Amino acid sequence: MSRVYNFSAGPAVLPEEVLREAAEEMLDYNGTGMSVMEMSHRSSAFQEIIDTAEKDLRELMGIPDNYKVLFLQGGASQQFAMIPMNLMKNRVADYIVTGQWAKKAYQEAQKYGKANKIASSEDKTFSYIPDLTDLPISPDADYVYICENNTIYGTKYKTLPDTKGKPLVADVSSCFLSEPVDVTKYGIIYGGVQKNIGPAGMVIVIIREDLITEDVLPGTPTMLTYKIHADAGSLYNTPNSYCIYVCGKVFKWLKAMGGLEEMKRRNEEKAKILYDFLDSSSLFRGTVVKKDRSLMNVPFVTGDKEMDAKFVKEATQAGFVNLKGHRTVGGMRASIYNAMPREGVEALVAFMKKFEEENA
Ligand SMILES: *Cc1c(COP(=O)(O)O)cnc(C)c1O
Repeated sequence: MSRVYNFSAGPAVLPEEVLREAAEEMLDYNGTGMSVMEMSHRSSAFQEIIDTAEKDLRELMGIPDNYKVLFLQGGASQQFAMIPMNLMKNRVADYIVTGQWAKKAYQEAQKYGKANKIASSEDKTFSYIPDLTDLPISPDADYVYICENNTIYGTKYKTLPDTKGKPLVADVSSCFLSEPVDVTKYGIIYGGVQKNIGPAGMVIVIIREDLITEDVLPGTPTMLTYKIHADAGSLYNTPNSYCIYVCGKVFKWLKAMGGLEEMKRRNEEKAKILYDFLDSSSLFRGTVVKKDRSLMNVPFVTGDKEMDAKFVKEATQAGFVNLKGHRTVGGMRASIYNAMPREGVEALVAFMKKFEEENA
């Protein structure tokens, strides 16, 4: 067996220890004589799995008691509709558009009410985070929406916008659990887990209780109502049980690593190795404004499409896979999530140096 260094933006690398444990428990989970995949979601064994996962996540993020944690299906994209359906009481919301995902959320919200684009960085292909001082927040906005880490373009909010008292809703798919957060600053924090936590097919929604109401837009499906899932402890219907189980293992792994402060330290260290190289390289360069650089997704280019393609091909042959940039951007992108070891980034940089010398 040989494992590659996987720089995929998602589904993405998972901690090897977690995969090994899941493999060991595949045929017989904890003396039940069955796999978690085969188990009733109403069984006591599964109830313990989901309860422990929630407890560990609450501990990791310091989630206050007045927030619910929901394990839902439909991925992050389903939230683009679920958020307005549940929160748009005045049918008004403000969106900051910093990339494809924020734009999709903004476009979806227009189906349900007046979605205002209050700031955008589209003028420079989303290579920066717009000025957040004194945003034109709408007086009747039901919420203000951001995508906190822009997976495709590689930018990240280093400070949160002043929403002038409106609930902040943040898509954190690609920076979930990468560093500590102050949950109390948000109305909703949500993310698809396939970027930085677990397998594909689930979204975790952390939502302040006062935003969970029966007063949703007319026609909102039962399955898209936060209250239904909150009241049922994420077990209204059959959840993605295996995904919850693997995420639970990742939470345990993060705790054993030292929690989110330690992850932040490691992630900063890893990102610095790559960014320092990009800043000194004569062949490669980063594509976004330095102060807004993501710790998780690092896009870079040579400036020559053929050279980019040659690099991706040779890197793949050398065991550095999924480095091709997003189809809308081109170039390269290295996603260096929590589970990417420092050695993976160091090896990549050594390979890039060698490639640079050979192609000088
Ligand atoms: C990947 C991604 C999404 C979409 O996730 P799905 O689970 O595929 O719907 C949304 N937002 C961000 C920031 C992402 O990185």
